[in-house]
Amino acid sequence: MKRERLDKVLANMGFGTRKEVKALVKQKVVVVDGTIATDPGMHVIPEEQEIVVDGEEINYKRWVYVMLNKPPGVVSATEDNLHETVVDLLPYDWAIKVHPVGRLDIDTEGLLLLTNDGQFSHSLLSPKKKVEKEYFARIEGRVTEEHVREFAKGVELDDFTTMPAKLEILSSGEVSEIRVTIMEGKFHQVKRMFAAFGLQVIYLQRIRMGPIPLDTTLELGEYRELTEEELELLS
Ligand code: URA
Repeated sequence: MKRERLDKVLANMGFGTRKEVKALVKQKVVVVDGTIATDPGMHVIPEEQEIVVDGEEINYKRWVYVMLNKPPGVVSATEDNLHETVVDLLPYDWAIKVHPVGRLDIDTEGLLLLTNDGQFSHSLLSPKKKVEKEYFARIEGRVTEEHVREFAKGVELDDFTTMPAKLEILSSGEVSEIRVTIMEGKFHQVKRMFAAFGLQVIYLQRIRMGPIPLDTTLELGEYRELTEEELELLS
């Protein structure tokens, strides 16, 4: 395991800026393995050593994997000048280190994973890995078996032709309800696939990413860490 500077570990945990955590060390409130720390630059192995700040033991986790039920109105980014972002919904010590694994449009709801593990997000997003993304959608207009056949062939969009997509009709009428599974995750992909047939997506929710379904006990805006079992399925 990696040795890291104590001030960096504490700053990453949300105890303040490097300067502020140095001040904590000066105040003698940081204790490492039972000994008061005097040097903010001392090296520690945070997963192995006991670090206590102000009487409370810190629970250091290097890697964080979070499932969020994304609500509409927040952007899938770590920063935005205009809107709240998905990381603003998380506790500070996670928010400062994670990034969303791919993007959902501002009005799209549902399953969004966030992590600080770049390799993990890369392997889920890499087109080569063909990770399925499944969505539930409401469509203005009638979705028919002809659309199912067209989606299965792949849909030609302005900039690329999608891989074969699985379209399931749940109900068809003035407003249709469908489930669709795509392999890529291009900008506005589902909306553009329906628009190619003159149909408008009026509600979109991601319900699965690879082997991981959205945990439906999470209300919009709620999150939880991925379980060991889920991480194993994804590895
Ligand atoms: N396809 C879209 O059009 N929007 C999303 O947010 C996700 C997939």
